[in-house]
Amino acid sequence: MRLGLHVSISGKLTRAFDEGRNSRSEALQIFTASPRMWKSAQISEEAAAEFRAEKNDFSPIVVHSSYLINLGSKSPEIREKSLQALLEEVERCKMLGADFLVLHPGGGDENAVTYIAEGLSKALDSAGGVKILLENVAGEGSKVGKNFHELKAIIDETTNGERLGVCFDTCHAFAAGYDLRRKDVWLKLHEEIDATVGFAAVKLVHLNDTKGELGSNLDRHANWTEGKLGVETLKIIRDDPRFSSVPGILETPGDLAARTADLKLCRELLNFEG
Ligand SMILES: [Zn+2]
Ligand SMILES: [Zn+2]
Repeated sequence: MRLGLHVSISGKLTRAFDEGRNSRSEALQIFTASPRMWKSAQISEEAAAEFRAEKNDFSPIVVHSSYLINLGSKSPEIREKSLQALLEEVERCKMLGADFLVLHPGGGDENAVTYIAEGLSKALDSAGGVKILLENVAGEGSKVGKNFHELKAIIDETTNGERLGVCFDTCHAFAAGYDLRRKDVWLKLHEEIDATVGFAAVKLVHLNDTKGELGSNLDRHANWTEGKLGVETLKIIRDDPRFSSVPGILETPGDLAARTADLKLCRELLNFEG
């Protein structure tokens, strides 16, 4: 499993690579703008070129899209704003040469899946080589995507939806009711994936431990030594030939030292041989 951290670009895009090297990440994930603000600063071609020149030390390069984007909102204004923001995310990904753009599908009323699919159909038109990954969610409120059936429903309604991929977040899945500490639950998860999106669509794992209880619908990431999933879960992933070959990004809390310790623990457990 190729592993890496979600890192900061605060001050300079290429700071991501400093944090990547310091943490011994093989893969990296970044925000390309503040994830909680609609307005995003433009990336200059010069800064993008500098980023592209260094990025090949890491693979894949993942961009996580803004948390404000909600393609499924019942408000036409929010949907339009969200689509524009997503198109800007796609453009920044192209400039940086990113491999994947992770998106929380969003939610609203009973039309949410249709709205999300409409937005995605437009975004895919301009996505080029950037693969958009729909992330499973913790199941908060009306958010769509707490299981693979819901993600598949979005993919099916999206024009060229087969170009979408999926990012599987372990914290979100536990919060949505999957007890990932149990091998039988992983086996059921495989069956669910095979019956819906297909495993080839799973391009990335968000390897997060969680503070929330099983089925709590709480999206609260935890460090691997402190959460509910723990070492048991990592060992199951290690022994799972399909999941252990998908790249993993850690989005655990704390400073770089704390997150690097998480990465080291995951690497020791997941890449263990014999
Ligand atoms: Zn995630
Ligand atoms: Zn989360």
